[in-house]
Amino acid sequence: MSTDRYSLAIHGGATSIARCEITDSMEAAIRADLAAALKAGEQVLQRGGAAIDAVVAAVVELENSPWFNAGRGSALNRDGICEMDAALMDGRTRAAGAVAGVRRVRNPILAARAVMERTSHVLLVGAEADRFAESAGLPLEAPGYFITERRSERLVAKQKTAGTPEGRPEEGDPKAAGSPFGTVGAVARDRSGNLAAATSTGGLDGKLPGRVGDSPLIGSGTYAHNGVCAVSGTGLGEAYIRAVAAHEVASMMRYAGLNVVEATRRVIEEKVAELGGSGGAIAVDADGQLAMPFTTDAMYRGWVRSGESAGTGIFR
Ligand code: ASP
Repeated sequence: MSTDRYSLAIHGGATSIARCEITDSMEAAIRADLAAALKAGEQVLQRGGAAIDAVVAAVVELENSPWFNAGRGSALNRDGICEMDAALMDGRTRAAGAVAGVRRVRNPILAARAVMERTSHVLLVGAEADRFAESAGLPLEAPGYFITERRSERLVAKQKTAGTPEGRPEEGDPKAAGSPFGTVGAVARDRSGNLAAATSTGGLDGKLPGRVGDSPLIGSGTYAHNGVCAVSGTGLGEAYIRAVAAHEVASMMRYAGLNVVEATRRVIEEKVAELGGSGGAIAVDADGQLAMPFTTDAMYRGWVRSGESAGTGIFR
């Protein structure tokens, strides 16, 4: 790949969903929002902007869409409240920022960015993270802003069928790993060869209040290292945390010499799966090669590379 080319991939979550559960109009709306997020990120890359700015632009769009489990439309915890997690990492310096368990900030990924840029810390949690976001000038919303009808229905459905220990996702059941519309993320390689990753989520439907998933944990759900890869995961967070999944992709590339497609596939199909987790990931390497494997029925996704037309996908 010539040095001034760019690549961008996004995801809107890995999920187990049958084709018949998505109507044509839903599919069109979801694909339109994926395309809008791709466009927001690509515009940054096209004009020579940084990978970190591109992934943030794409994730903000996905957080604002009610279709995905991030920002507006986030999953509800057991008590019917949205507690959101987000992280980003800049491969140039391996600077990172994250928030977990936020309930008020409209765009958790912007709060994560503020942590990265304005503090000496990596991760802020809970009410203090919301307060920090407000002090950084980010808009807050009332809790009702994040709650959609679809999510409320899912919580009721989950509570009706709950037969497992409290807060424990039914192992091996990909439906329990998320919801029909999932976590969001983006990875990019900019024209200067810099890599970045961002991930944002409402976590699992019906989770215990206070539960934090893989998305805001650097190395688990989100990772970027220039010269190696940038990765954003989606799936049963507990398995991704235990597999240190995103960093594992980078390790397989650095130490075992695997390419990004093979490394990402093996982490999702073997390392995460052997811990009972299903899901997927998107990754980009230093040359702009993209990987988007998943073990669920579907993963909402989009991709674009300079000089090529953009694409979106849901099923295999
Ligand atoms: N990985 C997210 C979490 O466990 C959920 C998802 O990707 O659907 O919080």
